[in-house]
Amino acid sequence: MAKTVTRRDPRKGRGLFAADEIPRGSVIVTAEPFAYVITPSTSPPSVESVQMRRCSGCLKEATPGRRLLRCGRCKAVAFCGAACQSVAWRVHRWECSAIQAVHPRCPTPSLRLLVQIISRLLVGDGGSSSTLTLDSFMALKGDPDGLTDGQKEGFAAVSCLAEKMLRATSVGNRCPAQTTLLAALCKVSCNAFSICDEELRPVGLGFYPDAAVLNHSCLPSCVATFAGLRLTVRTLADLTPDTELTISYLDVADTAEGRRRYLKEQYFFECSCPLCHTHDQAPLQGVVDAFLVKPLTGSFRPTYTAPTGDLLSSAWEHLQRTVLCDHDSLQTSSHSSSGNGWDWRWPCEWRGRRLIAADMDEARQKWGRQEGGWSRLEESLAQSAVYEVATTTRQEPSGRVDEGLIGVLEDRVAAARQGSACACGEQQIRAITHDLMGTGASFHPAYLRLHRLRESWLQHLISVEAFAEAAPVALTTLPAYRALYGAQSPLFGLQLFLTAKILSACGETSKADALMRRAFEVLRVCCGADHELCDKARDLLGQLQAG
Ligand SMILES: [Zn+2]
Ligand SMILES: [Zn+2]
Ligand SMILES: [Zn+2]
Ligand SMILES: [Zn+2]
Repeated sequence: MAKTVTRRDPRKGRGLFAADEIPRGSVIVTAEPFAYVITPSTSPPSVESVQMRRCSGCLKEATPGRRLLRCGRCKAVAFCGAACQSVAWRVHRWECSAIQAVHPRCPTPSLRLLVQIISRLLVGDGGSSSTLTLDSFMALKGDPDGLTDGQKEGFAAVSCLAEKMLRATSVGNRCPAQTTLLAALCKVSCNAFSICDEELRPVGLGFYPDAAVLNHSCLPSCVATFAGLRLTVRTLADLTPDTELTISYLDVADTAEGRRRYLKEQYFFECSCPLCHTHDQAPLQGVVDAFLVKPLTGSFRPTYTAPTGDLLSSAWEHLQRTVLCDHDSLQTSSHSSSGNGWDWRWPCEWRGRRLIAADMDEARQKWGRQEGGWSRLEESLAQSAVYEVATTTRQEPSGRVDEGLIGVLEDRVAAARQGSACACGEQQIRAITHDLMGTGASFHPAYLRLHRLRESWLQHLISVEAFAEAAPVALTTLPAYRALYGAQSPLFGLQLFLTAKILSACGETSKADALMRRAFEVLRVCCGADHELCDKARDLLGQLQAG
């Protein structure tokens, strides 16, 4: 296990830091859950909806036509068989009688998690953690003062129900006061992990005491993956000593505003990561935006004029050196879609290489006269890798002509997705794919709105098995995944994996093979070589080479 140290920051509270150089792919934490539940696919949860379809022991879904066994007492959770039942009983024993007490209501996942944690801690069982007690749990991050008035009402209602449930357990006479339960619910909300299946889809909610110390960043240095219930946190990059070890609590492919709202509602804090800095907090960002945001998201101009003047030409050269587009290497994976002449290999004109003259002027006016302005700008641009992601998601472009085209495409995709396979016929599938590829070519590949549209259309193409159309769309999602989630992230690896599978279904064996190798390389580092996805990648590579 890599060397780490826990430190306390007056503003952010506890955090975990690298105590030494830590190479990427190193394991930081690995743990079994102290408490966990299956998450429902319907809201509000009904007993039939989830617990009966998914095993609470192995988290796998029941094979169609097969019924799972129910817990004989509460009848609210299900298992594949006796082995899974005994696995699940380790946590279910702390809630079974509590669930019976509120029958036929079906408590939410976070309420169940709260009941499991509190009743277990009340008997002094800290699980595998030597330091977990009710007191140390109550000292975790998640302060009820951070709740809005509206949230307070909801949390109060849930903690009232929690009290009723806990009173029905064997430790009912020691049940904490409702205010304590409300605070405990905040701890659950802030410290629970979303447990994901082997294809990285959320299936459960778990509390892992040893991982609770990891703070959030929208540009995380680590990532958590799961093998069944076991959580493992690995580093995404080579880290220097004193780097904070962070994970992302959310889907980072969202706008700054979307992320801010989510973190405030769910975790009661304002994110201060480099991606979330506002212009007021960091005036230098205004310049970085001028250099990078506008080329990324501003109006698309087919021709550029190279800037002139001393400062500007040195800026120009500097940027040519430092702000090379990260997704160049992906452009070698060329693929021509069915006869529409689309070619994957287009030059990146959005970042660094070609700067819009007006943006350079703006930067000069702002910084040219200022003492030390240029060196600060240089320093900041050196972190351009960070800003490739930052600039893409901080703000949305508006007022572009092409924006209208995206809106039209969004409507067409939404209409086609509502229909069944026959409602959107082959011709329509080809037409939408063609227009999507055409419109997409004039935007930066990581542009969020287009990214979501492509994702939505790709899912539809896969569901109707239109692999010839899915292949070029899948390939265009790769730069976006890479820019939004990071070149070492599991989600980028999974997308490479998926794209390789689609290409393989189209008979593009050698391209599929090359992409699957890259998928394996990414997944091996961030998920570990023994992860189920790596096994699948190895199998598919074997098939591709045999076929
Ligand atoms: Zn099972
Ligand atoms: Zn039960
Ligand atoms: Zn952030
Ligand atoms: Zn680019």
